[in-house]
Amino acid sequence: MRVLKFGGSSVANAENINKIVSTLEERIGKEKLVVVVSALGGITDALINSVAMASRGEELYKEELQKIENRHLEMVKELIPISQQSHLLSLVKRHCNEIEDICSGVFLLQELTPRTKDRVMSYGELLSSQIISAKFQSEGFKNKWTDSRKIIITNSHYEHAVVDFELTNEKIQNYFANSVESFFLVPGFIASDINGITTTLGRGGSDYTASIIAAALNANALEIWTDVSGMMTADPRLASNAKPISEISYHEAMELSHFGAKVLYPPSIQPVMEKNINLIIRNTFDPDAQGTLISHQLKSSDDEKQIAVGISNMNRIALLTLEGSGMVGIPGISAKLFQCLSHEKINVILITQGSSEHSITIAIEEKEALRAEYAINSSFADDINLKRVYAVKIETGLSIVALVGESMKSRSGVSAKMFGCLGNNGINIRAIAQGSSERNISIVISEKDSKKAVNVLHEEFFETEIKQIHLYICGTGNVGSKLIQQIYNQNAYLRENFLINLRIAGISNSRYMLFSDKGIAQEDFLIWNQLGEKASAKEFADEIIHRNLRNSVFVDVTASPDVPEIYEYLLKRSVNIVACNKIAASSDFKKYKTLKNTARNHNCNFYFETNVGAGLPVIGTINDLIKSGDQIQSIKAVLSGTLNFVFNHYDGSRTFSEVVAQAQQEGYTEPDPRLDLSGTDVARKILILAREAGYPLQFEEIENIGFLPEECMQGGVGDFYAKLTAYEDHFKNLLNNAKNEGKILKYVAEFENGKAKVGLQHIAPDSDLFHLYGKDNIVIFKTLRYSEQPLVVKGAGAGADVTASGVFADIIRSI
Ligand code: ADP
Ligand code: ASP
Ligand code: MG
Repeated sequence: MRVLKFGGSSVANAENINKIVSTLEERIGKEKLVVVVSALGGITDALINSVAMASRGEELYKEELQKIENRHLEMVKELIPISQQSHLLSLVKRHCNEIEDICSGVFLLQELTPRTKDRVMSYGELLSSQIISAKFQSEGFKNKWTDSRKIIITNSHYEHAVVDFELTNEKIQNYFANSVESFFLVPGFIASDINGITTTLGRGGSDYTASIIAAALNANALEIWTDVSGMMTADPRLASNAKPISEISYHEAMELSHFGAKVLYPPSIQPVMEKNINLIIRNTFDPDAQGTLISHQLKSSDDEKQIAVGISNMNRIALLTLEGSGMVGIPGISAKLFQCLSHEKINVILITQGSSEHSITIAIEEKEALRAEYAINSSFADDINLKRVYAVKIETGLSIVALVGESMKSRSGVSAKMFGCLGNNGINIRAIAQGSSERNISIVISEKDSKKAVNVLHEEFFETEIKQIHLYICGTGNVGSKLIQQIYNQNAYLRENFLINLRIAGISNSRYMLFSDKGIAQEDFLIWNQLGEKASAKEFADEIIHRNLRNSVFVDVTASPDVPEIYEYLLKRSVNIVACNKIAASSDFKKYKTLKNTARNHNCNFYFETNVGAGLPVIGTINDLIKSGDQIQSIKAVLSGTLNFVFNHYDGSRTFSEVVAQAQQEGYTEPDPRLDLSGTDVARKILILAREAGYPLQFEEIENIGFLPEECMQGGVGDFYAKLTAYEDHFKNLLNNAKNEGKILKYVAEFENGKAKVGLQHIAPDSDLFHLYGKDNIVIFKTLRYSEQPLVVKGAGAGADVTASGVFADIIRSI
C-alpha cells in the first residue's frame, strides 16, 4: 500500500492531469494505491473570494462562481470522451448549484461563518477528485472514489480542524480493509466533525490528508507530488540557485516547513514520522527527478552532511513584546501570556526571552496582531495598571528567516557565520531564536530585507562555489566604458579562478539608467541608453536601495559633484562604494571622515585607490604601512600625469596650448584641463594622501604656487585655449628659466611636518623626479621604517585603461 498526493498545480489543467495518468499507469495494479488530490490550482482561493464577496453584498460573486463552474466543465470536456461526459457534467453542475445556493444565502445574510466557509471550500477537492477519478475510469483504470469526510473525523474548529486520530484511524483501517479495490481516489483537505458537518484541515491540508491515511494504513511510503523537484535548500521563487535536497530527516523537514517552506504542510510530517514511513517529495513535471526523501535513516554520515540543509522564510510577521520589571522572578507570567494566546487560537511561531527575564518577545502572523494586542492587554490589565508590565508592544512588516540543519549542533561558529554575512549586507536583525534542539536558528528581520537575507544565507551556506557581486556603475565616459569592457572580458576568469561572478546590475550616466538584477548582457550594453530610463544620481541610488541585492558595489567613474552626494545614503544601506571621483575624499575633512565612519559602521567599504596615481598602488601602500605600525614622515610626489605629459612634451617646438590640447585628446586630462593646470587636482591628491596618512588636513591649508596666469582661469574651456595661446611668452619664460639652470620643469606635491604644498619646481638630473616620462607619476615616501632609502611607487599615473583597472581592483577588494 502506498499513498500518493497530487497538489493544486499538478492538477491545474487537463494537460497536467494527463501527465499524472501516464506517470501512474505503470504502477496501477502492482501495489495498492491511494491517490489524494487537491483542488485545481487556484480554485480554493477563488471559492473563498466568491463567498467573501457575497458576504460583503457584492453581486459580482456570481460571475466568479461562473468562472469556477466553467473551468471544471472545460476540464471534463477536455479529459473525458464525449460518450462518458454527461454524468460528470451534471455532477459538476449540481455541485456548482449547491455552491451558488450557499453563496446566495451568505449574500442575503451578509454573514460568513467559518463553518460555511469550510463547506464552500470543500467543493474544490470534491470536484477535482471526482473528475480525476472519472478520468482514470475512462482510461480503463478501475478505481474507487472515497469521500474523505467519511473516514477523517475532526473536532469542530472550522478552517483548522483538529483530527481525532483514534476514531479516524479506526475508520480508515475499516474502510480499506473492507474494500476489494486496489486503487482509490480521495479528496484532500476535507473532513467532517462527529455530527457529519464538513470541516477542513487548514490551507495546504491535502498533504495532511495523505499523511493521515498513510499512517493509519502503515503504508510503504507517502509520495507528495508537486511542481518542484523536492524540498529545496530555499524557496525557489526567492533564491534562483536553490537546489533540491536529496535526503533530510523528519525533524529538519518539520522545521523547514514550520518556518514557511510551503512545499509541505507542517502537520503532515508527524503521522508518517511516528510510523517511520518514508515521505518522498517528487515533481509531477519531471517524474525522473530523484526528489527528496524524508526519513529517520539518512545515508550520509554526520561528517559528510552540510552544516545546514535549508533556509526557509515567512513574511507578514508581527513581533509582540511584553516587558516590565514585574516580570522578573514572578512565575506564571509567560504561562498567562501563552494561555491568553491559545484561548484566542493564535499560533505562536517563535519565542525569545532574554536571560534577564525582563521581557518576552513572540512572533505571530501579522493578521492576528490586533486581536493578540487586545487579548493580551485585557488579560494583563491589572499588571499594566500596577505598572508591573507595559502595554504590549507590536511591530509589523517583519519576516522570519530560519536556517535549519541537524548538524548545526555539533559545529561551532554557525551563528557567527550567519550573523556575519547578514551584517555585511546591512540586514538588521530584530530578534533571534535558537531552539534548544539547535536544529534551527531563526531571526526576525524587516520584510523588505527577506529576499536579500535568503540569498545571502543561501550563498554563504550552500553555494561555496560562486559569490554573486552586484555592480552599479555610474558614469560611462572614458574610464566607465573601459571598466565595463574589462569586467565583461574578465568575468569568466574570475568565476573560474576566484569563484566570484560580477553582474553589472545597473548602469547610469547623467541622463539615463538601466537595471537588470541578473546582470546587463554585453550586447545590451552596446545600446544601453536606448533601453534605459531617464535618471539622476539620486534616482539611481533610490533604485539600488529599492532592489536591495546582496554584495552590492556602487562604482563612481564620474567627475561629477552630484554623485558623491549619494555615497553616505548608499553606505548606510551597506552598499560598498568604489570611486575614481576625487571629490568626496578631498571634500571637507568632516565629510571625508563621516564617509569612512559610515562605511565602517555599516560593515562595508569606501575605496578610492584611483584618486591618486590612477592604477598605481599608492593609497593601498599607505594603508598597509599605517596598519602595520609605520608612520609617514614625508611624501614627495609628481602626481599629475597631465602636467607631467605637458612639461615633458613642451620643449619650445610647439606652443604650450597645442601640447595641452594633445594631452586632452589623448584622455589624460580632467574634462576641464584647468583642474590639472591650476594645480587643483594635484592639491586634492596630496590632500588625500596626507589624510590617509592620518593628518586631518583641509584643502584650504595646502599652499598652491600656481603658474597659470589668473586670466586663463576665467570663462569656459573654449576661451581657455585662446588665452593659453595669448600667454605663450609666459610659458616659454618658465621653460627657459629652468633650461638655463640645466634643469627641467615638474609640478611637485610635497607633504612634511603636517603641511602640504604644490607648485612648479626646477628639477636637476640627479633628482628621483627627473626621469619621469610620458604620463608617469612618482610617489616617494619617507617613513619611520623607510627612513634612509625611501619607498618609491612609480609608473603610468593617468589613462583610462590603467584607471579602469585600478577601479576594478578596488571592486574586487571591496567585497
Ligand atoms: P502543491 O499545490 O503541490 O501542494 P504548493 O504550492 O503547496 O504545491 O508547494 C509547492 C511550492 O512551494 C513550490 O512551487 C515552491 O514555490 C514553494 N516552496 C517554498 N519553499 C520551498 C522549499 N524550501 N522547497 C520547495 N518548494 C518550496
Ligand atoms: N486546496 C487546499 C488549499 O488550497 C488544500 C491544498 O491544496 O492542499 O489550501
Ligand atoms: Mg501544498
